[in-house]
Amino acid sequence: MVKLTPVKSGNWQPIQFPKELVRDLETFANSGVARALGFTSKSQLAAFAIRGFLSTYSDYLSIYQITDFSENEITLIDHDENKVIHMKHDGKFLLCDSDKEYYCSHIKFVLMCPAVLKVVKKFGYPDEDNK
Ligand SMILES: [Zn+2]
Repeated sequence: MVKLTPVKSGNWQPIQFPKELVRDLETFANSGVARALGFTSKSQLAAFAIRGFLSTYSDYLSIYQITDFSENEITLIDHDENKVIHMKHDGKFLLCDSDKEYYCSHIKFVLMCPAVLKVVKKFGYPDEDNK
């Protein structure tokens, strides 16, 4: 079984996560797969996941800037392409007017923003607690 207590080290700080996420993390940590990969604590697993998030989204954070959003439309500036992007909800999904796609880098970016998810979750997108 993988150690589930927090890592005791001066280099680690406590952080809070939703209960459901911690439960899922513990389930994975106890699966044996985590140990086979070399993880020795759920804190290491969480740190690994957060590093992945930051490496995935750090580029987007410097390129995209949300300027306005409502339950039906999200507007952002794409500084890479120097244009304003509108995403509208078609009743089922968000549609990017620039890419004419339901899942492009613009939509991927806005769907990781908790403030946007709170507004669009009534259309079936999960909120930040993944409920
Ligand atoms: Zn797009």
